[in-house]
Amino acid sequence: MKDKSDFLSEWLDTNKIPYKKNYEIKYYSWIKAGGVIKNYITPETIDQCVNIVKFFKSNDIEFYIFGNQSNLIVRDGIITTPIINLSKMNKISFEENEKGLNIFCDSGVSIPRFSKNIIKRGFTGTEGLVGIPGSIGGGVCMNASSYGNEVCNYLKSVKVIDDYGNLQDLNKEELSLKWRGSVFKENKFLIVYVRFFISKNKYIGEKLTEKNSLKITEHRKTYQESNLPNLGSIFATKNIYKDLSKKNFIFLFVYFIYKILSVYYFNFNKKKIQIFKSNFVKIYLKLLGLNKYENFSSSSKTLNCLVNKGSNSSTEAINFLRQFKKESKNCLNFENIILHEID
Ligand SMILES: Cc1cc2nc3c(=O)[nH]c(=O)nc-3n(C[C@H](O)[C@H](O)[C@H](O)COP(=O)(O)OP(=O)(O)OC[C@H]3O[C@@H](n4cnc5c(N)ncnc54)[C@H](O)[C@@H]3O)c2cc1C
Repeated sequence: MKDKSDFLSEWLDTNKIPYKKNYEIKYYSWIKAGGVIKNYITPETIDQCVNIVKFFKSNDIEFYIFGNQSNLIVRDGIITTPIINLSKMNKISFEENEKGLNIFCDSGVSIPRFSKNIIKRGFTGTEGLVGIPGSIGGGVCMNASSYGNEVCNYLKSVKVIDDYGNLQDLNKEELSLKWRGSVFKENKFLIVYVRFFISKNKYIGEKLTEKNSLKITEHRKTYQESNLPNLGSIFATKNIYKDLSKKNFIFLFVYFIYKILSVYYFNFNKKKIQIFKSNFVKIYLKLLGLNKYENFSSSSKTLNCLVNKGSNSSTEAINFLRQFKKESKNCLNFENIILHEID
């Protein structure tokens, strides 16, 4: 018997809109775990996007948007909610004039590609973004940032498709940008295109931008997990240990010791700093009761990064994250997006 997924597949075939059937999240997501999506739709044009959203609206179908899945963790099992992904819409173009650099960017362009292109043109302000593995659409939605550079720093306007299928242009002031968030986290608007402008006074020359970018890339290696699949930061915080110190006296005391020792290791014993960090991660996991998980845990480099130690199933990961949140007594808010209730 035909279900709503088959009905959608037929409509996509008739309208010649590309999609993948039975898309296995475990092969593509950054955390390398999760279920199977019945219809993973990858439109190639704005017209196709408009068509899809209008079809969903008129048939009362819920949908969800995926970027590069570098901040998403999705439940196991069969997912019938259709997913829209704009990775096939990935053109970027540049126009330089006496005032500066205009950038016209599809939302499927990767953040590293966006940033490297600007670095190559000698404009400063995006060197910190090279290591963020998301798409421009995901980066705007999450207001992603690194080393003081935000994806939205130079943003002028975005073209979106609202949940009725209407095309709209929104300027920066309308995006409610905040630390790791924007209006797009609450609504279902599909970001299809972003326009940026960098003023001429940000031009410092390619030699300097390349140098900045290399320095940042080297520094990233010291704190970012690079061996195991992960999703960057679990919680939207600049200092997880400091935030946890608000939980109770024990966490305040441990944070105090952590602070003193980090000053010591950073200044006098840098060779052993990773061992120090990894030991403190273990202490915190034990204090939080999170040391029982086998396949998913925090990175040995930082408590604030979920790593996959060898499983395709996201159930344990989601349990770990939910327990972590509960144990933090609301000192922390999720940065990772957990889709555990998606149909
Ligand atoms: C190794 C690693 C390092 C990281 N480092 C950083 C860092 O330094 N700084 C930082 O801020 N983040 C970092 N992240 C997190 C992540 O890369 C960013 O949040 C990124 O912006 C997510 O983009 P994405 O395309 O992967 O989005 P996804 O993870 O696929 O989705 C994230 C959210 O964006 C929405 N979305 C995606 N595309 C669109 C669209 N076109 N229109 C509307 N909504 C959309 C989704 O619905 C979802 O709500 C890191 C992640 C990893 C794995």
